[in-house]
Amino acid sequence: MNRKEQKLTVDETVIQRLKSGNPLLHKEDFEATNHALTEGDVIHITDDRGKFVARAYYGKQNVGIGWVLSLDEREDINPSFFQNKIEEAVRLRKRSYDDEETTAFRVFNGEGDGIGGLTIDRYNHHYVVTFFSEGIYTFKDWVIESLLTLDDVTGIYEKKRFATDGKYTGEDDFVAGTPAEFPMLVKESGMHFAVNLNDGPMTGIFLDQREVRKRIRDHYAYDKHVLNLFSYTGAFSVAAALGGATKTTSVDLANRSLEKTEEQFLVNGIPTDDQNIVVMDVFRYMSYAKKKSLNFDVVVVDPPSFARSKKKTFRAAKDYRAMLEEVIAITSANGVIVASTNASNVSLKKFKGFVQDAFQNSNQAYELLETRGVPEDFKTSGAYPAGNYLKVLFIQKK
Ligand code: SAH
Repeated sequence: MNRKEQKLTVDETVIQRLKSGNPLLHKEDFEATNHALTEGDVIHITDDRGKFVARAYYGKQNVGIGWVLSLDEREDINPSFFQNKIEEAVRLRKRSYDDEETTAFRVFNGEGDGIGGLTIDRYNHHYVVTFFSEGIYTFKDWVIESLLTLDDVTGIYEKKRFATDGKYTGEDDFVAGTPAEFPMLVKESGMHFAVNLNDGPMTGIFLDQREVRKRIRDHYAYDKHVLNLFSYTGAFSVAAALGGATKTTSVDLANRSLEKTEEQFLVNGIPTDDQNIVVMDVFRYMSYAKKKSLNFDVVVVDPPSFARSKKKTFRAAKDYRAMLEEVIAITSANGVIVASTNASNVSLKKFKGFVQDAFQNSNQAYELLETRGVPEDFKTSGAYPAGNYLKVLFIQKK
């Protein structure tokens, strides 16, 4: 059951990089070899004398062209390879499995768990497998079969997020087991969230923000008016309301954010009359708030790394600083800004620089209260720091 392998040679610098544990392959790595690779091919990487370096698979993503799977020559890429990796990942998350207050978390985090381009999330007893390339999708059967051997799996859904034109292609994402009924209610730190695993690329909640939601609920929201920008289904607003916020205002451009946000409040027993849900461009809302001299005690701002709306294009790397200046203008004195980005081209250092510049340009002092990244279940490895893509800064305006 082993796959046919393609032998390719790489040079010494690439060898050192791969051996250090950085598993991502780049197109340039194979420039010296005249290769014709097909998605899903197993690549047997050697040095220029033919000595084994690594086994990898070919799968094009935005970040690279594939991932190293093993540095051990005796390890073949076959069904047991996948089974072992998945079992190991599950073992590592025993604490998450045992935690009855949180029933949605990441079970397998790509390269952090040894197979780049593949993630698996658990929502109660249903699993969502995300494939990030055509290449990794060719291993689908091995992944699904491995998952079906776990004793708590009721059903499996898949997300195909191949680097094509960014459009989502999956129509019915149900794959195996018994389908779930939607909306499904999951728990997170005792909060409830309604999710749908079969409705496009997203499920209704971003699991990587779990700790941020908990911090907002437990430490920042009490007695505050909280503004949530780019609110999606309002998960941060729900956390704030449960933490005793006097009021929340959620702003998102997408029409469906209104009913989705109402739903998240309702499943937590929070009447929506006290909550303000605005379907509007965030930039328009901020100008409106400034004109009306509205101020907020806490502002959560979590934009996509790239977004196009009618009037403008937002790119985190280029536009975050200017956006922060607008946020600062509508934040109360001593108010807290929770600024988040998942842009891979914005490092933590660069992000902190945006904050510094934005406050300086606004003639305001500030204090950085805390910094957060991905939670533990989003396992990363030091050899591939890009895996920790999430940067969240809690900043107090002074
Ligand atoms: N903060 C959310 C996730 C945000 S996802 C959470 O924690 O759940 C990004 C959201 O930004 C999407 O819902 C999208 O509709 C919204 N969006 C993108 N551009 C926007 C804009 N210019 N104004 C308002 N919302 C925007």
